[in-house]
Amino acid sequence: MEEIKVLLDMEDMPKKWYNILPDLPEPLLPPLHPATKQPVGPQDLAPIFPMELIKQEVSQERYISIPEEVLEAYYRVGRPTPLYRARRLEKYLNTPAKIYYKREDVSFAGSHKPNTAIAQAYYNKKEGVERLATETGAGQWGSALSLGCALFGLKCIVFMVRVSYNQKPYRRILMELYGSKVLASPSKETEVGRKILAQNPEHSGSLGVAISEAIETAAKDEKTKYSLGSVLNHVLLHQTVVGQEVIAQFEKIDATPDVMIGCVGGGSNFSGFMYPMLGKKLRKESDGTRFVGVEPVSCPSLTKGEYEYDFGDTAGLTPLIKMYTVGHDFIPPPIHAGGLRYHGDAPSLCLLVNKRIVEAVAYNQVEAFEAGVIFTKIEGICPAPETSHAIKAVIDEALKAKKTGERKVIAFNFSGHGLLDLQGYSDYLEGKLKP
Ligand SMILES: *Cc1c(COP(=O)(O)O)cnc(C)c1O
Repeated sequence: MEEIKVLLDMEDMPKKWYNILPDLPEPLLPPLHPATKQPVGPQDLAPIFPMELIKQEVSQERYISIPEEVLEAYYRVGRPTPLYRARRLEKYLNTPAKIYYKREDVSFAGSHKPNTAIAQAYYNKKEGVERLATETGAGQWGSALSLGCALFGLKCIVFMVRVSYNQKPYRRILMELYGSKVLASPSKETEVGRKILAQNPEHSGSLGVAISEAIETAAKDEKTKYSLGSVLNHVLLHQTVVGQEVIAQFEKIDATPDVMIGCVGGGSNFSGFMYPMLGKKLRKESDGTRFVGVEPVSCPSLTKGEYEYDFGDTAGLTPLIKMYTVGHDFIPPPIHAGGLRYHGDAPSLCLLVNKRIVEAVAYNQVEAFEAGVIFTKIEGICPAPETSHAIKAVIDEALKAKKTGERKVIAFNFSGHGLLDLQGYSDYLEGKLKP
C-alpha cells in the first residue's frame, strides 16, 4: 500500500508547549491599557484571567511543561492527530509536488480549538474558578470551550452572536449538550447588552458586542473568568502541540516540508502548526521552509492592514495591541468562513509577517469554496470553509510546482471539518455566494 497516513503513538505526544517569544527577531511591544495607554501589567489582567495563563502570556521560557491532566484530555479527544498524504489530490492536479495535511478535524469539537480550550479550562479549574464566560460567532470556539469545561467540571456561559444563534442552531445545541448556557448576544444578562437592546431590540449582534458581554460577566463575578480562543500568546502556545507532532511525523518519513500553509483568522491554528518548525529556522537549526498564511480578501488584515496599535474588540474595552489591523470598527461582510472575520491578528504572527519571515496571501470565498468542493470530492473529506482558504493556496502552490517540475513538499493544517457548515456549501452550489 502507498503511504497515506503518518500516525504517532501516545508516547510520541509532545510533553511541552513551544513558546516562540524568546526566538523572535525582536521583542513584542507590550499591550497598552485602553484608558491610560500605559503597558498592561499582570494585575490589570488578574480579574479576567487565571494567574497561570497570565504568566504564560508574557513568559520568555522556550518550553512550558504540559500538565499530566491536560495531556490525558488531549489524548482522550483525539491527540496525537494523523498526518495525511493527499495522494488523490496530487494525481488530480497532476503535480510532482507531495501534499500533506494535518488532521485537526478529528477532535471531538471538529477543529484545532480544543487544544487551547482544554488547557484553559484546566488552569481555571485549578485556580478555583467556577465558571468561564466567552463569546462565539458561528460556534466553533464556544463548542470547543464547552467541551473543555465539561471535561474539567466547570460551568460555561457563551454569548453567541444573535444572527448565528438564529441561523446556525447545531453548534448551539452541541454547547447545550455539554452543559453550557448559551445566550443570543446582545442579551439582557449584561449592562452592555441591555443598553444596546434598549436602542435597538432587533440588533443582530457582532463579535465585538459579544466580547464586551463576556468580559463584563467575568469582571463582575469573582468566580467567573473570561476565555479567548485565538490571538493571545498563550492560545498560540497551546496550539504548538500540532506543529511539534508535525515535525515528528515528517522525521518518521524522512522528509521536510518546503512550504507550510494555514488559514488565518486570529492566527492560532496556523501559528500552532508552523511555529515549532519556524523556531528551528529562527535558531538556525534548519532552513528552507517557507511559511504562508491565508486570509479572506474581505477581511485582509495581514495583506492590506496597517501595522499599528489597535483595540482587540469593537467597543474599545480591551487593551491596545500592536498588530496588522483593518481597524477595530471594520465590519467585514458576512462571509461563510466566520472564523476568519477578525479585524486583527496575533501580535507574534504580525511581527513575523512585518519582518518578511512569514508570507501572507488572500483569496475570496468563492475561490475558497471551489477548492473545498474539489477537496471533498477528491480526498473524500469536507473541510471547514476556513480550511478551504488554505486549500486554495495549496492547490496554487501545487500547480506552480507542476509548471517548474519541482518535487516540493507542501504541508497544510486541516484546521477543521465542514460538516456543520453545509449551508455555506449549499449557497456556493446554488451560485448564491459573492466573491
Ligand atoms: C476558528 C477557526 C479558524 C480561525 O482561527 P485561528 O485562530 O486563525 O486558527 C480556522 N479554522 C477553523 C476550523 C476554525 O474553527
